[in-house]
Order: sequence, then structure tokens, then C-alpha cells
Amino acid sequence: MASRTSGWGHQIKPPDQGAAEPPIAESQPAAAPIADQPPMDVAPRDRAQFDHKPAERTPADGSGERRSSSFNASRRLLRSIMAVVAQPLSPQDRLNKIVTLIASNLVAEVCSIYALRSGDVLELFASEGLAAEAVHNTRLALGEGLVGTIAANGQVINTDQALLHPSFAARPETREEQFNSFLGVPILRGGRAVGVLTVQNQARKSYADDEVEATEIIASVLAELFAHGGIVDAEQYADIEVLKPGPRRLEGTALVEGVAIGQAWLHNPKIEIASLVADEPAREIERLETAIHDLRASLDALLARPDLGGGEHREVLETFRMFADDAAWIRRIREAIETGLSAEAATKRVQEETKAKLGKASDPYLRERLQDLDDLANRLLLHLAGRDRAHDAHELPDDAVIVARNLSAADLIEFDRQKIRAIVLEEGSQTAHITIVARALGLPMIGRIKGAMDHFFDADPVALDAENGQIFLRPSDDVLQAFEASIQIRQDQEASLASLKDEPSVTQDGIAISLAINAAFLIDIQQIAATGADGCGLYRTELAFMTRSGLPNRASQTKLYRSIMDDAGGKPVIFRALDVGSDKELPYWRMPEEDNPAMGWRALRLLLDRPWVLRNQLRALIAACDGRPLWIMFPMVAEMSELLRAFEILDQELQRADDLGLNPPAKIYRGAMLEVPSLYWQMNALLSCVDFVSIGTNDLLQFLFACDRGNPQLSDRYDVLSPPALGFFNDVVEKCRERGVRLSVCGEMASRPLEAMALIGLGVRNLSLSPAELGSVRAMVRTLEAGRLHRYLSSLLDLPDHSLRGRLHAYARDHNVALPVQLYRPV
Ligand code: PEP
Ligand code: MG
Repeated sequence: MASRTSGWGHQIKPPDQGAAEPPIAESQPAAAPIADQPPMDVAPRDRAQFDHKPAERTPADGSGERRSSSFNASRRLLRSIMAVVAQPLSPQDRLNKIVTLIASNLVAEVCSIYALRSGDVLELFASEGLAAEAVHNTRLALGEGLVGTIAANGQVINTDQALLHPSFAARPETREEQFNSFLGVPILRGGRAVGVLTVQNQARKSYADDEVEATEIIASVLAELFAHGGIVDAEQYADIEVLKPGPRRLEGTALVEGVAIGQAWLHNPKIEIASLVADEPAREIERLETAIHDLRASLDALLARPDLGGGEHREVLETFRMFADDAAWIRRIREAIETGLSAEAATKRVQEETKAKLGKASDPYLRERLQDLDDLANRLLLHLAGRDRAHDAHELPDDAVIVARNLSAADLIEFDRQKIRAIVLEEGSQTAHITIVARALGLPMIGRIKGAMDHFFDADPVALDAENGQIFLRPSDDVLQAFEASIQIRQDQEASLASLKDEPSVTQDGIAISLAINAAFLIDIQQIAATGADGCGLYRTELAFMTRSGLPNRASQTKLYRSIMDDAGGKPVIFRALDVGSDKELPYWRMPEEDNPAMGWRALRLLLDRPWVLRNQLRALIAACDGRPLWIMFPMVAEMSELLRAFEILDQELQRADDLGLNPPAKIYRGAMLEVPSLYWQMNALLSCVDFVSIGTNDLLQFLFACDRGNPQLSDRYDVLSPPALGFFNDVVEKCRERGVRLSVCGEMASRPLEAMALIGLGVRNLSLSPAELGSVRAMVRTLEAGRLHRYLSSLLDLPDHSLRGRLHAYARDHNVALPVQLYRPV
């Protein structure tokens, strides 16, 4: 069977569908091993001798027997550790006993445990073999010395010449110079090292793989014990990362602006493990088998759901389903169970290894693969806990900040909006459909937070500043107070803006500015009345297509468009013909792989190549009008011939409606979006055949500056308030004015008061914007003298400046133009 590309863009091999379901064993070919990466700060030549490479094991090399006896030893050691934990001792005494036990079991002269404290310092917490006075005195920065390097890289160091290792840093108070051999393993939790476990010997020896593995197993148990096991004085050492991760500031990309305070709610929650160690490996393996069986069955059931549709959702699930058969993954969990861990702890241990590798992997294929395994481990943990994800809709708190790797627009729509304060994503981009939906729902959102799922724990307090793309996790009281003040100011501001809703949107010098809303869902249309808008200047029809599992039929489209017109209460709604493609993919419609989808087969190009989709939509719109006027515009017009072809199809559909005796629209207003610069050089032809032009600044600017609108690295590179962009708008305004054609701006630019001010200064009289910003734009309009700004702006357009933002800000301040107050800013 041929391999195919998964929804995530990598090649995956389909499972052999004819074969019977394999038992949980090595009956399947093991996946290619994931290469360990060497520590980053060691030169390759020096590194080779210190790298830890697990030996290949073959049934004939006797390693099987050695392993089973080492498994027995490991189980005994784990049992002894748990017995110490149960003893009525002080936390420090427990920890001291544990290092002594480990040292004697691993025949090491030294065993030490370091824990990561706030400020990224690793402190020696207990040691058998090192000088007693070093305990709680010896500290290493992250990345410093062997211990710091292990914690920074999350990787093992195994060397018989510790003192010659390039990372070695002497700590004389420990008196460790006599120990040549060193084995250190990270104590991992949440995908990052929260401590280090080391063993040392005087004699030069390289620790065997079984010893390394045993030490890693103990480290994974220590991670849990640190968190819950009473081996550390929680009051005295409240700042150790594993116990109570301190405040953190995370940076990402602001996707939907706003400020919020709430508590983290993890979309795919972590599972806390009740029992770490198990006496009966056979019973744990049985539990594992049952859980894997249930996991497979639940994925099969999901795949069989009739409403699943095709497309990416299905492919993601299919990929998961395949990985649920991954023999290498399952074998690693089984082996961890044989060392004495419970099935949950073994799954978690393998998951932590995967996560640590994920943090290092730069190859996108490998990252996807590791991420799949991480997600799958979460699902398996749920099954081991007797819960199925489908039934794991753990209650949203009333002030939830949803934290997810990614969310679909459909996921978001299913949540109770009233309970959501904000959204944090590991992925996400400015124009992804989840972003458009979040904006429509008025939910602040920050994306591209690396490793978000690992940083947050359920119910962690979060202060989110989606104006500046920063998150304060577990914030201090000062930060919380600053946010509360910001939110209060914003609420006061909104209340005062709401009181303006029935006031005319007219400038100081008497120029009326039409303010309409951008909408994507039927519910948004209520915002016309709520904000006193003049109508809807952009209805993104594609959202209704994106949130379904199949192409909506004509009847359901007609019903939706009719409701939209009904709810608009007689005010105009400009419907934009389906604008799919690029990142706005339909889950059920396979799009071709394109190197550059933003400039690819999308919007009007796609509609003209699939005219039945356009015809169906136009028929639905014409029927929905039922005698009312129809406003329709076409997206991404690059040249007149495309628009004329679309108008021809529209005319044919009007004719068809007439032939069928349907009630025709009272009037048709035909428009084009100006988003592709080439159309500007056909302006005369354009203006002679349209009733209106709407500038889509989001796309237009990416093409004007050759600057991907979804690329966070470039998001501040060019400014819309710059001479080239404003000069372009100025020329378009001039041409439309000369020909008496209505011009509006419906891109995100119009939603920002300073930018909206500049547009009005250039002569734009119609803006369509996010309903959340309508009040502040109205307040700006009412305090602006448009003629004076026009004169000022005209003098700036030939400047060689990168941006005119500063000058426009100063203008607004000097002329008392009302702009929203600055909200909380980082110090
Ligand atoms: C635009 O490009 O400015 C626009 C309004 O369209 P969209 O953001 O939906 O691509
Ligand atoms: Mg666009």
C-alpha cells in the first residue's frame, strides 16, 4: 500500500488493514529509533567520548537475562524507596535515606540529588558520599557544570573521566575530585528537568545501560515524590520548581487583543498518578493491554462516526490510531513496568522521555511524530484511569483561560462562551480560523507559546495581556493588581463608549463616517443593534463552511442568509462570496499541496474553477433576499476578467431566478475587494462596473510589502501607517471619489482607532470593523477634525520614514482626538 501524506504534512505509513490486530508485543516492526542529540554546548569532537548511547540488544547476547535480573533489582529498590517514604521521618531524613539506598543498590560511592530552585539554580539537596556541609550549600546555575548541563539539556551524562569533561566545574566544598566516574540523569517533570540525580565512583568505569536505565527510572519516581511524596520540606523550599513552579512570564504572539485574568484550563489535561510503584508487573502489563485495547477501540469508534467527515480531522485521528499500534512505544512502556513502575508511571516515564526529545528536535517530521506520541500517552493515561477522553469534559471554571496545543473553530464554538476569559495556544496564527472565531467572540488570544501545555497546570492563576503578547503565569500580587486596574479602566471605557452608541458618528467638521461591523456568525449580527452600527460591511460566509463536517447544501445556506438579513433589521449586510483556501481550509475538502498557499489557489480563483460552489451560494443568497436588496462582493480579485466572469455567473443566476418566477432582489449592489495590488492598475475598468469597492487591508498589505500576514517574525516589520501604504490608499480614495464609487475599508486596520483616524484623514468615509472596537472608533471620529488631519497627512506622504505612527499619535494627542487609554504595559 502506498504511503500518503498526513494532515500534518508528513509521510506516514498506513497500517496493514488486512492483518489481525496485533497483540501488545513486538510483532510489528519497531519504528526507527529517535536519535539522542548530544549536549549543545560541547564541541562535537569532545562530545563523542561522553555521549550516552544505549547498546543494541539482541536476544542472543545475553542481555535479556541481565535485564530481567536488573529489573528485579530495580523493583526491590523502588519498594525500599517507597518503604522509606512511608516511614515517620522528617522530609530531609527521608531524602537522606533514599540517597543512601540508591548508592548501595547501584554500588556507587556517591549518590546525590539536586533540585532546581527559583532563579534557575540547582541546589544539592541530599548526598551520600559528598561532604555533608555541601548539602544545601552547593549550587550550580542551569548550564553550569555537569549537573547544570544535564538539567539544561535534559540529557544523561555518563563518563569515566568526569574531571576532564568539558562541562566539569569544580566545587571544592563537595570534595568530589577523587571520583572519576560520573553518571547523571535529569529528573523530568512536565517535559523539563526539575532536578538531577547523580551517582559517582572513584574507579574509572562507564556505567552500563542497565545502570543508566535504573537510574532514570528512579529519577522518574523522584520527580513524583518531590511533588507529592513528603521528601522535601514544602514550606522551607516552596520555590523548588517541581513543588510549586514560581511565577513565569511567557511571550507569544498577540492574536486577538485584550486583557484578561482567569485560571488555566488545559484542553488535554495532564493526569496525576496515584500509585507510582507496583509489585506485580504481570498485573500492570495486563492493565496496560486493556487500556491500549480501549484506546484503540475509542479511536476506532471516533473514526466510524458518520459526522466525522473527511479531511484533516480524520487524518489526525488515523495517525493516532496507527501510533496506538506502535510496537516500539508499547515495548518501552512494558519495559518500564518490568522495572517496578505502575502502568501509569511507566507511561508517564516514556512520555517524559518523548517530551524531552521533543524539546530538542528541530526536524519538523520528528517533532510531529513525537508530539503525536505525547498526545497519545495522554489518551492512554486517561484510559488507565478508566476515563475516555470523549467523556472527559472536565468542567470549565467560570473564569477559564483555555490552554491548548491548538483548537479548531468547532472546538471553541462548543464551549460555553460565558465561562471563557481568554485562549492560549502553542500554535495559532493571525489568520487561522480559530483566531477569526475568537475575535468574533471577543476573546483575547495569544498564540505561539512554546511548550504551553507543559508550563501550565489546571487552575494556575493567569494574567494575560494580549495587547503585548505576554502571559504572567502564577503572577505576583503586584502584577495581578496592575491587571485588575487595566481591566477596570477598560470596562469603564467600554461603558462610556456604549453610552455613545446612539450618537451620530460625525467628525467635528461635520463629516459623517459610516461604521459597520465585520461578522462571521449569525450571532454577530446582533452587534449591529448593540453597537448602533450602520450595518455589516463584511460578512465572512466561509466560517459557516469551515465549522461543518461537509459542504452546506443550498437549503441550509438559504436559511442562514435569510436569518442574517432578518436579524440585521433592514440595515445592509455585505456578503462576501466564499473566501476559502490559503489557511482557511475546509476540513472536508482536500486542497492541493502548495508552496505558497496565501498566493495560491484560493478565494475567487477557486470559485471560478469550481463554479458550482459559487452558483450554489449565489442561488442561496438570491433566494434569501426574497425581494430585499442584495449586497455581494468578491474576494481576491487580481484582474478584471475574473470579476467580470463572476458577474456573468451572478447575472445568469439572477436570470435563472427570474425564469423560475422567484421574487428577485430589489436591487443588486456589486462589489470587489481590493486585496491584490494588480487590480489598482485596472481601476478605471473596475470603477465603471462596480457599485462599491472594499479594501481588504489584511491581504493587500501582505502583497504590497511581500510580507506574510501570518508570520509572527515579520508582524512588526512594516507598518500600515507608513508612506507607501497610506500613499496607496490615498490614490485609491482619490480615484473612487472622482468616479463617485463607494469605498470602504474592511480589513483589521479599520478596527484600530489610530489607523481608522488615518484612513478618515485620507478621505475614507466607510469603515467596517470588529464590533468590539466600534465604540472606540466612534469616540475617535466624534473628536476628529478630518479636514485638518487631511492637510497634515498630505504633507507626510512623501517622507522617506519607516512609519508615521509616532507623528499620528502626537497629532491625536495635540488635537485632543479621543484614543483608548494605554492599558497595562510590561515594566
Ligand atoms: C482582508 O484581507 O483584509 C480581509 C478582510 O479578508 P480576510 O481577512 O478574511 O482575508
Ligand atoms: Mg482577505
